[in-house]
Amino acid sequence: MRNIIITGAAGGLGQAMVKKFVDQGDFVFAADLHLDRVLELQNQYSNQVKAIVLDVTNEDSVREALQQVASRGNVDVLVNNAGLQYREKIENFPTEQWDLLINVMLTGSFLMTKHAIPYMKEQQYGRIVNISSVHGEMATPEKVAYVAAKHGVIGLTRVTALEGAEFGITANAVLPGPVKTPLLVKQIQDLEGKGMTEAEALAEIMYPKQAMKRFISTEEIADGVYFLSSNEASGITGENLNISGGM
Ligand code: NAD
Repeated sequence: MRNIIITGAAGGLGQAMVKKFVDQGDFVFAADLHLDRVLELQNQYSNQVKAIVLDVTNEDSVREALQQVASRGNVDVLVNNAGLQYREKIENFPTEQWDLLINVMLTGSFLMTKHAIPYMKEQQYGRIVNISSVHGEMATPEKVAYVAAKHGVIGLTRVTALEGAEFGITANAVLPGPVKTPLLVKQIQDLEGKGMTEAEALAEIMYPKQAMKRFISTEEIADGVYFLSSNEASGITGENLNISGGM
């Protein structure tokens, strides 16, 4: 039974990932800022999920979370998934929001990787899956911190892949397109607050360029994350897996 740690596990994508790994027989440390919501997952999958409080921006919190995983055995799989969004034009973008988004999504992924790698090197095995976004390869106005963080996550992934290869560690990024989670619903509401109709907000978020013209399901993202952690993906590292409906 492998040990998996998923950050932001209480969120829309995180919950689907927890379910996927549990269904495949793994043991999941469901880590999030909000203990109450990960405790619900622990109650739901009592023998296979341990809820832990984690702030990915706090190095002590990161170290303790990984120690908890290691106390059960190997640190087999790390999924860096915690994230959040904020929209504003650059000149009005609050610097505190820039710091927060970069800290959670980029620095948080770095800290988790930094403290997971010593265990993975020791084991000579590790799978790191970083949740970037289609915004890791493209841009949208008013998402400067998100776009910068998600581009950065791809750079982090590539360096991790290079340094990890000789120790049996792979690192890959998943680039989701639009998935209807709380993060996306809030964006729709924000745009409605700025005078857009829901249809206009959806058109902006979904992009005319998306081939499938539909939301991606949380399960479709979780399937991709699981695949990259599996033996079938043992030859894949430093790559981006877009799960975006063809954006
Ligand atoms: P969500 O808001 O449902 O979940 C995000 C989770 O991250 C929340 O549970 C939150 O508590 C947690 N979190 C925030 N700050 C944290 C911190 N400091 N430490 C630990 N946990 C923290 O969002 P989601 O849609 O499930 O997003 C998950 C990931 O997928 C994010 O990285 C997001 O950028 C990415 N993503 C989402 C979409 C989408 O359309 N929903 C598209 C592309 C990428």
